[in-house]
Amino acid sequence: MADQPDETSLREQLAAQYRRVESLGLNALSSGNLSVRFGDNMLISPAGAKADNITADTVVEVSLDGDSQGGRKPSSEWRMHAGIYKRHEEAEAVVHTHSDYCVALASNLMALPGFHYLVGTFGGDDVPCVPYSTFGTQQLADDAAQALTHRTACLLANHGMIARGRNLQNAVNLAYRLEIMCRQYVLARQLGEPARLTATEWDEFFEQVRRNQYGSAG
Ligand SMILES: [Zn+2]
Repeated sequence: MADQPDETSLREQLAAQYRRVESLGLNALSSGNLSVRFGDNMLISPAGAKADNITADTVVEVSLDGDSQGGRKPSSEWRMHAGIYKRHEEAEAVVHTHSDYCVALASNLMALPGFHYLVGTFGGDDVPCVPYSTFGTQQLADDAAQALTHRTACLLANHGMIARGRNLQNAVNLAYRLEIMCRQYVLARQLGEPARLTATEWDEFFEQVRRNQYGSAG
């Protein structure tokens, strides 16, 4: 925790990245939410946040059991964020959106299949879709947290997507990449049934990722 940015900086980053989610077109009518781990608690966008009114001061500190500080209410989806922080030590930031192409797949209860090698950047050969549950419920939180065990993102049936990242910028980048890839998959489907990488091709992909990480570390 020694190298954790201070609270003011995290609040400012969160407000800036929330505006970025909107400017990327992932957050029409402010349907998404964004959080960052803060010690044992999290900082999260407030209920009713909008890109044009969110500021460092309106960001809410809330415990992973939902006890909030100050007068503002956290996003109604705080349980989903909390569930992911509780279950995944490596999660430092979480973003949830209803972006168009993620919703298109999720409304058909479809996982994003491994039609393109960059699907692998989410951790495996697909991005799964968890079953529908009412927004804000513990069931939805548990299903999303479980799906993010071997993946950094998942789709939420009849709802949207959620991703966990190493920091706020990384989480938002993942949400943007997932939206792009769902759009590309929808386009590819219009021409037929897109080919999928084989198990051997996935093995080679992940081996290449490992080699490149070792290379960049040296
Ligand atoms: Zn939602």
